[in-house]
Amino acid sequence: MGLYDILATDSGHFFFKFNSDAECEVILEGGPWYIAGKPIILRKWQPGLKFDKEAVKTIPVWCIFSYLPLELWTAEGFSRVASAIGRPIQVDRMTATRRRITYARICIEINAETEPIFELDVQYRNPITGGNESVKVNVEYQWTPSRCTKCLVFGHDCSKNNTKPAQPVVVKGTETTQDAWMTRRKGKDKIIGK
Ligand SMILES: [Zn+2]
Repeated sequence: MGLYDILATDSGHFFFKFNSDAECEVILEGGPWYIAGKPIILRKWQPGLKFDKEAVKTIPVWCIFSYLPLELWTAEGFSRVASAIGRPIQVDRMTATRRRITYARICIEINAETEPIFELDVQYRNPITGGNESVKVNVEYQWTPSRCTKCLVFGHDCSKNNTKPAQPVVVKGTETTQDAWMTRRKGKDKIIGK
């Protein structure tokens, strides 16, 4: 791959340097990645990026949206559904080029202060009838670390007695794994405005 250097910092962070933006994008799109069996959080560096390992409030996570109506397969549509989960970062190439329309894969910065959402009621305009319609869109998180609902940070969970970090959840296709994160918020599904 086009990786040409790795720099380590005292705080335990690593910089991965690539030969080109394109090679960097391939890695960013390909996650989740693991080092020695442990998931790593990858972020694209930008000026002013702060490193605070103790209190991780936000993390970038690849999310999979199933049953997304084709009318919403636009930059605006992706942005709308992703904004219900967090701050949209990017869609993967297969989604952007619509070469795989069984699901849309979007990288979203999620905040530990927000309860995870697994189902969205999305409203969109049906171009044939001209009316507004509502559809349920499923959301899967490709990987999430443990989340503390007391401290509102990622990385640990005060409500659990053992301090062992939670095993990463890897979701493939439509098969889901059992984890605290997979608890559906009954009757609290977020509705995206028209
Ligand atoms: Zn805590």
